[in-house]
Amino acid sequence: MPAPLFYKIKRGQELTRKDLIQLLDLCDPDDLKWLYRKAYEQKQRYVGDRTYLRGLIEFSNICRKDCYYCGIRRSNTHISRYQMSVPEILADAQWAYHNGYGSIVLQAGERQDREFRLFVDSIIREIKSLSNGELGITLSLGEQTRDTYQRWFDSGAHRYLLRIETSNSRLYHRLHPRDHHFETRKACLKMLKDIGYQVGTGVLIGLPFQSAANLADDLLFYRQNDVDMIGMGPYILHGNTPLAAQVPDDEGAGSDRLVMTLKMIALARILLKDVNIAATTALQALAPDGRESGLLAGANVIMPNVTRKKYRQLYQLYPNKPCIAEDKRDCARCLRQRIEGIGEKIGFNQWGDSPHFKRS
Ligand code: SAH
Ligand code: SF4
Repeated sequence: MPAPLFYKIKRGQELTRKDLIQLLDLCDPDDLKWLYRKAYEQKQRYVGDRTYLRGLIEFSNICRKDCYYCGIRRSNTHISRYQMSVPEILADAQWAYHNGYGSIVLQAGERQDREFRLFVDSIIREIKSLSNGELGITLSLGEQTRDTYQRWFDSGAHRYLLRIETSNSRLYHRLHPRDHHFETRKACLKMLKDIGYQVGTGVLIGLPFQSAANLADDLLFYRQNDVDMIGMGPYILHGNTPLAAQVPDDEGAGSDRLVMTLKMIALARILLKDVNIAATTALQALAPDGRESGLLAGANVIMPNVTRKKYRQLYQLYPNKPCIAEDKRDCARCLRQRIEGIGEKIGFNQWGDSPHFKRS
């Protein structure tokens, strides 16, 4: 590693855009090991030695949008669509609560119709009531109006994940149809913050047309927008999408994306210090121990899937999604072994809010 960068990180000095680009280009295994270890130390220092769990419920794959990279986009007619019933969702949430997960994430394709808004509102209230207000609720339901975000917040949701996907508006528009607007997505992040949510965002890593400079700008975007949580992961090519037809994968694309994602996690930790960073499931689609590697590179949150088995194969944003054949009990056991196996403790029964949010 160039000596000036090495000393800058060691002394905790501010990294510039140029530094970040150089760091994202690192490929020497010893340099990478050092970078991940530094990020891990920062994690322990700023967010503690615990890994927090968010039980993920993927309650519907119905989506009005058509993102060019996504397997459940509106125009994919090769999948059957589902929406879980209220009792099914509540039972999965209850399971997460009883198993000490502390909080859950409700995720689905994007819908904005009234029926959907009321449906979500009622499940938030019911989950709050079944857990005596104890189970934390994160939403990941795309772009909505301020009123909708406010209503869901008033009903008890307290965190929201909305990936910007890329902070470069030109790249964003190459990856989405014309009626999907970068500025709207960005404005949503601001609205969420104003309302009082803990706000999470993130990007896809290893996208066609994406450069190291774009990724450096993504890291700076997180800081400029004062985000509390980061959930970013590798782009995984889905055969039934326009992006796959336009840009097929090169050989070795998966392992390049894995390494780039670990570098992004490490640099996000070094740059932002006290935010929550997730080791996302897509990492595990590229390597069996991908999520553990994420934790060792500075992430402190894992989102075990608690969706009942019958729906898992229908919620494939990308192919080779891990744990499709497993049930939540298998996932709980397996994850515990994996997390404890790398010497981390699990923050059971806690919301595990980001210290960054508490500070602001
Ligand atoms: N509809 C909501 C939430 C579900 S999609 C939304 O879009 O915000 C959640 C995330 O899945 C998206 O933000 C996107 O970054 C990710 N995703 C979609 N297609 C993907 C792919 N092919 N590879 C990796 N991640 C993908
Ligand atoms: Fe829908 Fe989200 Fe997929 Fe876009 S990324 S098509 S909004 S589910």
